[in-house]
Amino acid sequence: QSLNNYLDLKGNIRVFCRVRPFHHEEGYQSRNMFTLDESNVFLKVAETKIKQYKFDKVFNQCSTQGDVFAEVEPLIKSALDGYNVCIFAYGQTGSGKTYTMEGKPTDIGVIPRGIQALFDRASESNRRFLFTFSMLEIYMGNLRDLLVSGSKTNGLKTVPSLSIKTDPDGGIEIENLVAITVNSFQEVKRLYEVGARLRSTASTMANSTSSRSHCLIRISLTSFDAPERKKARNKVWMIDLGGSERLVKTKATGKRLKEGKAINLSLSALGDVIDALQTKKFHVPYRNSKLTQVLRDSIGCESKTLMLVHIRPNEDDLCETICTLGFATRVR
Ligand code: ADP
Ligand code: MG
Repeated sequence: QSLNNYLDLKGNIRVFCRVRPFHHEEGYQSRNMFTLDESNVFLKVAETKIKQYKFDKVFNQCSTQGDVFAEVEPLIKSALDGYNVCIFAYGQTGSGKTYTMEGKPTDIGVIPRGIQALFDRASESNRRFLFTFSMLEIYMGNLRDLLVSGSKTNGLKTVPSLSIKTDPDGGIEIENLVAITVNSFQEVKRLYEVGARLRSTASTMANSTSSRSHCLIRISLTSFDAPERKKARNKVWMIDLGGSERLVKTKATGKRLKEGKAINLSLSALGDVIDALQTKKFHVPYRNSKLTQVLRDSIGCESKTLMLVHIRPNEDDLCETICTLGFATRVR
C-alpha cells in the first residue's frame, strides 16, 4: 500500500443522513426535534440543549430518491473503475432503510438505480464487463442464500448456512453462494423478486420479520480489456441492515431477544470496524461478526464505503435517534 493510498483512506468512507418524512397515521408530532442543514443535524436533546452532529451530507424530509442517488452515483463509477464498493442503510425499524435501498415500484431506490447505472455506464465504456448477481441474508449469524429455496424439514424450510473462505491474497469468497450472470436490469429485477420472496417466506416460517436480519445484494464485476484478456474483478455490495433499535425498547424476550442481540452485536462490530479504519488503528476487528467477515475485503483499504444513516422524526423516537446519531458520529 502506498503512502498516498494510506493517507487517502479517510476519503473512502462517507456517512450520509436521511430523515424520513413524518407520517400522520403514526400520531401527532408534538415538537420539532431537530433542524437540518446541508451537512448537520441539530438535535434538541433537552429544552435548552442542542447537539450538533456532522455528516458528509444530510437529506431532509423533502429529499427525493433522485437527490439521494445523485450522491451515490459516484460510487457506481468507482465500481466500474475497479473498486470494491459497500453501500449500507442503517437505522431503527421504520426509519426508511428499505425505502432508500429498494424504494417503491413508482419511486425506485438506490439498488435498482445503482444497477441500472452499472449497466448504462458499462455499455458506454470501451471495456467489456461481466456482472453476476447474488443475494443473501445474515440471520442469527447464519448466511442464507436467497436464490436457493430450502429443503423442507418438519414443515420448515431450512437453507444450510454458507461458509466464508479467504483467498491467499486476502479476497473473500462465500462458498457455494449462487452468482447468476446478468445481462440487463430486467434480469436483475426478476432475480431480486425471487430473493425477496424467499426472504419473506423464510422469515414468516421462522416466525420472524426481515427487520431482524441483514439483507445483502452483491454484484460481482469482471472487466475485460480487448481482446478478451481478463483484467480485474471487484464487487458492489448494497446492504439493508437489520433494525438498530435497542432491546430495552422492544421489550423482547426469548427468540426475539436472541435475534435482537445478534443484530446489535453485528451492528456494533460493523461500527468498530469502520471506527478502526477511520482512526487508522493498526488492528481492524473484522473477525467479530459474520457481517464484517463477509465484507472484509470490501470495507477499508482500496474500497469505498457509504453509510446511509436513517432517522425517524417522531418525538417518541428521541432516544433511538440519539443512539443512531451516536453510531454515525463513531463511524464518521
Ligand atoms: P425500514 O426499512 O427502515 O424498516 P421502511 O423503508 O420500511 O423502513 O419505511 C417505513 C415506512 O415509511 C414505509 O411505509 C416507507 O414507505 C415510508 N418511508 C420511508 N422513508 C420514506 C421517504 N423518504 N419518503 C416517503 N416515505 C418513506
Ligand atoms: Mg426494512
